[in-house]
Amino acid sequence: MTNWKIKIEEIINALRPELQALSEYIYDNPELGHEEFKSSKAHVDLLKQHGFEVEYPYLGIDTAFKAVYQGEKEGPSIAYLSEYDALPGIGHGCGHNLLGSTDTGAGIVLSKLVDDIGGKVVVLGTPAEETNGDKVTMADAGTFDDIDVAFCTHPSDGYFASGTSMAMEAIAFNFYGKTAHAAAAPFEGINALDAVLNTFNNINSLRQQIHPTARVHGVISNGGEAANIIPDFTRAEFYVRAMDMPYLNELKEKVIRCAEAGAMAAGCTMTWEYYETGYKNMITNETLSKRYNDNMKEQGIQMLVDARDSMGSMDMGNVSQVVPAINPYFEITNGKAISAHTVEFRECTKTEEAYRAMEDTIAGLTLTALDLIQDTDLLKAVKDEFEQAIN
Ligand SMILES: [Zn+2]
Ligand SMILES: [Zn+2]
Repeated sequence: MTNWKIKIEEIINALRPELQALSEYIYDNPELGHEEFKSSKAHVDLLKQHGFEVEYPYLGIDTAFKAVYQGEKEGPSIAYLSEYDALPGIGHGCGHNLLGSTDTGAGIVLSKLVDDIGGKVVVLGTPAEETNGDKVTMADAGTFDDIDVAFCTHPSDGYFASGTSMAMEAIAFNFYGKTAHAAAAPFEGINALDAVLNTFNNINSLRQQIHPTARVHGVISNGGEAANIIPDFTRAEFYVRAMDMPYLNELKEKVIRCAEAGAMAAGCTMTWEYYETGYKNMITNETLSKRYNDNMKEQGIQMLVDARDSMGSMDMGNVSQVVPAINPYFEITNGKAISAHTVEFRECTKTEEAYRAMEDTIAGLTLTALDLIQDTDLLKAVKDEFEQAIN
């Protein structure tokens, strides 16, 4: 009987220099969302060297790719999702350089096994996680229609099991009034600033009656031009967040009514639009998550459960609503509490501890894929849970 764990360790050891070089190259060349030309190409080049067929650009997105390794025998399709976008000013403060080499690395390791055990490996390069995440584009375009299970892992300051994230819509309101001299003839004006202030006050009242886990937060992005002119145009941008889609839709309608009422009271007209991509909430597939956690435990790593239910939003949420998925975290901070989006966190991505965590995580990801490919009951249980969760 093949000892898969030992075999996987051997493959990872051989691959480690290439993965470390990939992460360091991307660290040295930080690129913002939809500008990740070098970063996406570095992933694509490595995947091609390891025998993947690559579609790049993918779905008309210049920095997205879909890499496929079709094993010699039929079997389930396993997807690993890579990110490689950076943050303004601080480069890879979210650690997506290491995220990319971990998830792409898992895809390459699994590709060395599927000729024997069956199945197909898909590595997706998913741009712009920090802004307009293209996992949403892919989930909407049917990318996951022929995929059985999807994984994404993220560097962190702990080993956290896959949890939840908030559903989110980004809504902007535009208010239109009429200019007038604010001192000489204010009675001839229609004050678009009042409409935006009314909207904030209405939303502040609404906030008393919303679920404690929901969030509505906004800014006035255009409040008028000068104090002696009654503003004829103002704009406010909001994020509305909730733990699930039904409540998000309910809350969104209420927020829009707050703006409609604000406009009406001021005598203005109002339009609204989505100014960024909305994200769905993350639905962790618990059957899949448990198996991954067990495989990590085999390597002496205890995944912390219920510790990472995020009050933020992420594009993996949309993926988790079209295919069974998990989004666990791996520790790169050597026991220290260091949050992402900091220079300190960025520096952790280049340490020996981080590379060891990358290796352990790749092992956990590939062992879990092996289980899914070889154990049809497990795959069925994962899919049954998914069907129940989304219906
Ligand atoms: Zn991130
Ligand atoms: Zn981030």
